[in-house]
Amino acid sequence: MASMRSILFVILILPLVSCDRSAKVEGATTPASAIIETREGPSAAELAEVTKIVMLGTGTPVPDANRAGASVAVIHKGQAYLFDIGAGAIHNATRARYKHAIPSLYPSQICCLFVTHMHSDHTLDYAELVYTLWWRRTAQLRAFGPPGMQEMTDGLHAMMAPDLRARIASSQPVANPDGYQVEVTEIADGFVFDQDGVRIEAFAVDHGDIKPAFGYRIDTSDRSIVISGDTAKSERLLEMSRGVDVLIHEVISDSGLAKNSEGFQAYHRQSHTPASDLGRLASEARPGLLVLYHGLYYGVPEARIVEEVKSTYDGPVVLANDLDQF
Ligand SMILES: [Zn+2]
Ligand SMILES: [Zn+2]
Repeated sequence: MASMRSILFVILILPLVSCDRSAKVEGATTPASAIIETREGPSAAELAEVTKIVMLGTGTPVPDANRAGASVAVIHKGQAYLFDIGAGAIHNATRARYKHAIPSLYPSQICCLFVTHMHSDHTLDYAELVYTLWWRRTAQLRAFGPPGMQEMTDGLHAMMAPDLRARIASSQPVANPDGYQVEVTEIADGFVFDQDGVRIEAFAVDHGDIKPAFGYRIDTSDRSIVISGDTAKSERLLEMSRGVDVLIHEVISDSGLAKNSEGFQAYHRQSHTPASDLGRLASEARPGLLVLYHGLYYGVPEARIVEEVKSTYDGPVVLANDLDQF
């Protein structure tokens, strides 16, 4: 009987397995992952797409089983512009590439990174972005951020020098020996990136002692977006956000904040935006949609933070999860 079962297994199951493999090789509409991807540039289909937002990380420094560190991708005409790169963001980029069929989110295809500030929960996956499949990267990564960006990049290269030496000196074919290099631009308040139909402006926000800390406003032909980064309630952000299509804003629960020690309450009040204050800001800014991310809960159920925002705001609001698309 056992050998009959084995024969049946071979007859019935193996053809299914090999079918699946050939689908991978030939590339279905939504390909399976674990594929080396290269491309000359965006396809006609990508160029025709509307601007999309993909949440690559909605978390904070607090380890969270369901949320990567802060990171938001804006996809425009086949290019992915990342805003922050917290821990886990690049694995989520790979997941989003296949879940949502967005080729520009394949890690070695990501074109540009904009960092809001130098806190680790916004930068820890920089190594992952720069060094994943670096030897096959065709277009040099561009990274924009506050002073410290170059120092962090130099330190990253020092950390990874053994990898560079090993691969370049070994028999491994290295398509692009310079693929790990990053074009770094350290920016100041008011910096504007204007290229390929995307205008991105950095503006200073109020993140306590961390100076500078930037928010970003992104404008394309079909969409306007503001990303807060980390900030207390900011007048500057309010001015940049009036009537914007999508406002993506950090938040701390009012009731969660009250559970903190006096010292931490004072720190959070000058560094982050309590939910009820965010509701007040959104009531003035009137975005098309308010998206909450980087939520600090301190044990309060996640849904409560939305209720706290709604206590002072009657517009559309959603609490983002990783891989959400807007
Ligand atoms: Zn921060
Ligand atoms: Zn943060």
